[in-house]
Amino acid sequence: MEIAAWLLLILALIWTLSCLRTPIIVWTTILGLVIAGWHYYSLPSVAGAALAWSLFALLALVLNLPLLRRQLISKRVLRSFRRIMPRMSQTEREALEAGTVWWDGELFSGRPDWRRLLQTPIPALSPDEQAFLYGPVETLCRMLNDWQITEELHDLPAEAWQFIKDEGFFGMIIPQEYGGLGFSALAHSSVVMKIATRSTTAAVTVMVPNSLGPAELLLNYGTDEQKNYYLPRLARGEEVPCFALTGPEAGSDAGAMPDRGVVCRGQFQGKEIIGIRLNWEKRYITLGPVATVLGLAFKLYDPEHLLGNEEALGITLALIPTDMPGIEIGTRHAPLNMVFQNGPNWGRDVFIPLDWIIGGAPRVGQGWRMLMERLAAGRSISLPALSTGAAKMASRMTGAYARIRKQFKVPIGKFEGVEEALSRIAASAYMMDAARTMTAGAVDQGANPAVVSAIVKYQLTERMRQVINDAMDVQGGSGICMGPHNLLGRVYQAIPISITVEGANILTRSLIIFGQGAVRCHPFVLKEMHAVSDTDERRALKDFDRAFFGHIGFTISNIARSLWLGLSGARLVRAPGSPHTRRYFQQLSRFSAAFAMTADIAMLVLGGSLKRREKLSGRLADILSQLYLASAVLKRFEDQRCPMEDLPLVHWCCRHALFLIQESLAEFYRNLPARPLAGLLRLLAFPLGRHFRLPSDALGHEAATLVLAPSAARDRLTAGIYLSRDEGETTGRIDHALEQVVPVAPLERKLQDAVRQGRIQPGSEEQLLDQAVDAGILDAQQTERYRSALAARRAVIQVDDFPADYWNRE
Ligand SMILES: Cc1cc2nc3c(=O)[nH]c(=O)nc-3n(C[C@H](O)[C@H](O)[C@H](O)COP(=O)(O)OP(=O)(O)OC[C@H]3O[C@@H](n4cnc5c(N)ncnc54)[C@H](O)[C@@H]3O)c2cc1C
Repeated sequence: MEIAAWLLLILALIWTLSCLRTPIIVWTTILGLVIAGWHYYSLPSVAGAALAWSLFALLALVLNLPLLRRQLISKRVLRSFRRIMPRMSQTEREALEAGTVWWDGELFSGRPDWRRLLQTPIPALSPDEQAFLYGPVETLCRMLNDWQITEELHDLPAEAWQFIKDEGFFGMIIPQEYGGLGFSALAHSSVVMKIATRSTTAAVTVMVPNSLGPAELLLNYGTDEQKNYYLPRLARGEEVPCFALTGPEAGSDAGAMPDRGVVCRGQFQGKEIIGIRLNWEKRYITLGPVATVLGLAFKLYDPEHLLGNEEALGITLALIPTDMPGIEIGTRHAPLNMVFQNGPNWGRDVFIPLDWIIGGAPRVGQGWRMLMERLAAGRSISLPALSTGAAKMASRMTGAYARIRKQFKVPIGKFEGVEEALSRIAASAYMMDAARTMTAGAVDQGANPAVVSAIVKYQLTERMRQVINDAMDVQGGSGICMGPHNLLGRVYQAIPISITVEGANILTRSLIIFGQGAVRCHPFVLKEMHAVSDTDERRALKDFDRAFFGHIGFTISNIARSLWLGLSGARLVRAPGSPHTRRYFQQLSRFSAAFAMTADIAMLVLGGSLKRREKLSGRLADILSQLYLASAVLKRFEDQRCPMEDLPLVHWCCRHALFLIQESLAEFYRNLPARPLAGLLRLLAFPLGRHFRLPSDALGHEAATLVLAPSAARDRLTAGIYLSRDEGETTGRIDHALEQVVPVAPLERKLQDAVRQGRIQPGSEEQLLDQAVDAGILDAQQTERYRSALAARRAVIQVDDFPADYWNRE
């Protein structure tokens, strides 16, 4: 009995010390003191005491003397790791090592430091950037008529192209010293977001030269000569760039491209030089048909050993003027009625000098690494901005439409079914903007977050899909009938493009977010992998030992913390935030520990096969994503000084995220092949069961109500989109109608009461108004306001129609 009590005390101590992540030396000292206490108070037999002290001494020596530990344990483990660990291809390794770890690393740690997140500077635009948004961007938006662009011109109007070039839209990321605008990532994102709310075609046209392409690659890897020549020309719009990676045989698996460059001698500008003879076939290339300079990815070979001993030199990037002999370019694809320039191109025996390689000869074979590194930042800006713009526009316009449009004599937004869709739209817009700004802010602070960029690309484009589907349902026929007044139709059509480009979403969720994240963000896995492949034996053993034992301590700690935080509801976790949000910080800490524990055990049990089990790793990706998105929501609320009117959106987003995390964990355990282990993990993560629920109906009502009437919260939610005050334009017309319709609601009630009391007869609203004037229920001014609201509503619910021969036109 006494021994059992002592054992229990030891277990409790181990649990507590694990939760606190105590260093090994402290562990050893405390364990020694407990055994001494047992020895002193319980007077054990000599044999018992000897056994306990010997075990303790062995453990203490092995754990605290690295030299001994390495020889006895780490050496053997390292050997077996080398046998079982799958070999990584060069492209996989470069993708894994690209970019930096940011808040994702904290979420992977099981103990995120919330203060660190809240202390990162509040993302903000400079005065110049704001002036650009209210000046040239506003002007460009006014110049764009998306119906004319997509239906009639099948291109941007010539004056819009010229304006884009003249005002430096193509050079937002190019520093001012080269003549560019030198904008922050947040400004770049804000420009794309605003234009996207006017025309997807224009937004894509502007975003591509500022995304992964020649300018970005030159800035980071170009030679001085290349930078000095190309960057000013790109900034002034004298060159139109495109970047060609994808081909018919190489889509998601772009590293498998068959496009070849062969190092050889050839004639260039009348001289014989060593250069590269290129053959390629690319497709889907945005701006390709009008590009003057083509960034090209190809595999380089040196069969005559003109550059050195190696024959296959690897993926290489070059900048090539598109008027070179042998290049075929200019035909167009038709991507879902979006008319941004996009098409295939081919090169047949195109001979280029070596110094057209981006970064020159020293960058031969480094193309994949360069692309992965730059994708890490670029992916976090363009598509998240475009998606957020769509969600904000839907929140503002569909919310207003739901208040203006009446059926069954009631604004449709008051029906619970519609309200449910509106709450998803509004809360998603809040969350998306929070993630967009937080991520752009991180890039501006110098992060190049590979995993986070995959999270925001995937999650925000998926949320846009959900939001626009919901908005379509709410708007019914007015979303469906295409024409100059339809705001939703073209966005709806374009969604699959955002889903597919910059890493197709299924692949991004199943392979990149967790597959890459587990290795990149985990505090020890990448170190273990480096040690395993290190050929310097002494260094490998030392590094592996440190990482391996760190990893064991980390896993034990997360197991202990998961159970403790599950049992205590994480109530004792130190967390920042207001009384309204503190519990969310605590609960996210709890799930961070459960996630870290689950990810570690999954890697241990499934090893390399976890990579092929995409359904399992996809669920882990979802958990990491929701942890990130909820963090962004909380940071935004704090950054904006906790406006109480936004609380319904904050609550909705956090509860939704916590519920999704819980369900993804539960589904992960349900499908984990090692059944007893799955049961144990479930118990550790949910010792008191699963009690997180979806946002309640009442909360959904509060969230939806925010977009049904003008308010500061609605303006904050939809800030940064293009809005016209012109009632001839759809946004102007809808906002104007909402401003008219909401104030006459009390008059509407007055008329309905009068009908109930029999003072006037039932009829259409116009008939009721006529009777109300005669009966003296409304005065002349009230009647006038009511009539004008009815006219404004009528204008909003109209849809476009066309002459019968419209589709027969030339
Ligand atoms: C409009 C448009 C513009 C584009 N612009 C450019 C450009 O400017 N430059 C450029 O180089 N490229 C561009 N692309 C190419 C784009 O990046 C590719 O389309 C994308 O990489 C996907 O390739 P794919 O379309 O051939 O699809 P596939 O690679 O054939 O993929 C089909 C499906 O399989 C899934 N999948 C593939 N592998 C896996 C896996 N291992 N695990 C799980 N799922 C997987 C994908 O997620 C996808 O759902 C553009 C494409 C489009 C449509």
